[in-house]
Amino acid sequence: MRIEHLRQRLRALGAKACHEQVLLRSWLQRLPLDGSAHRSEQFFPLALRQALPDLALELEGLARLRSEHPGEDGSRLLIGLADGQTVESVLLPKGGLCVSTQVGCAVGCVFCMTGRDGLLRQLGSAEIIAQVVLARSRRPVSKVVFMGMGEPAHNMDNVLEAIELLGTEGAIGHKNLVFSTVGDRRVFERLPRGVVKPALALSLHTTNSELRRRLLPKAPPMEPAELVDLAEDYARHTGYPIQYQWTLLAGINDGEDELEGVVRLLTGKYAVLNLIPYNRIEGLEFRRPDWEQAAEMARRLHRRGILTKLRHSAGQDVEGGCGQLRARSGVLRST
Ligand code: SF4
Repeated sequence: MRIEHLRQRLRALGAKACHEQVLLRSWLQRLPLDGSAHRSEQFFPLALRQALPDLALELEGLARLRSEHPGEDGSRLLIGLADGQTVESVLLPKGGLCVSTQVGCAVGCVFCMTGRDGLLRQLGSAEIIAQVVLARSRRPVSKVVFMGMGEPAHNMDNVLEAIELLGTEGAIGHKNLVFSTVGDRRVFERLPRGVVKPALALSLHTTNSELRRRLLPKAPPMEPAELVDLAEDYARHTGYPIQYQWTLLAGINDGEDELEGVVRLLTGKYAVLNLIPYNRIEGLEFRRPDWEQAAEMARRLHRRGILTKLRHSAGQDVEGGCGQLRARSGVLRST
């Protein structure tokens, strides 16, 4: 379900803009959907009031908790969707939530479990919002990162619709909404035009074009330097830095050449580089680098003027890469 379709249904039941706003805000804040928390029970038109119990059940069924798995840097939630498919969300520290945007993913990053099955289907914007509503049943959410299963750039209309609602009725600060992508021209065209402009995380992983094609085989064929230039324009436009994501793979993208490449590409840029040592996935040959070596790389980059953070995990990396819970739950299916 898309938010826009939900709005159309409400209008068909006699809702005006103020009714839509109260209803969507109530959903996002987990208040009674009849609007009684804000106004009198007679506030909504009769046809809408009569439809509300069924609508509430339908919204509740968009995302249901299947299981919860506490991890070192957050708690992973396996979420069941109305059609029986599953995705993952991660409750991150400090009110953060990582949400999924697709079932599966077509980018096929060779170190990611989600990428192994290809794309099964898109998530509707209401299903993305429903992950936030579900997470809010467990604790407050003040930041949403779109770094779970899927490539947000491949489901742009739904993701941008969800971002707009979260940044308005969802009361989340715009820079606390983080659109994460491997890089796609459409992202740089559309994000600056939005009413709500999210922060941008760009999964770079290497400065070597040929290696990038091997690691991210179905990402758009763009040179790292071009990606950085486009991202820099967006950072200057919004006033928030780009978060470059770098999954550190031992012996592959943690060498001297990459260190020099990062200095060459990011010097003077409005950017933060997040180094995330890879968490091993059974069946894949990639290795996690030694923590002290990774820390030394971060220190050296810092000394060369690149703001670098060494992280235990990003949303998609808690417990070893997004898609693992789903794969383990044995519910992989093709549609
Ligand atoms: Fe897709 Fe992200 Fe996995 Fe790459 S890391 S395959 S973009 S879900």
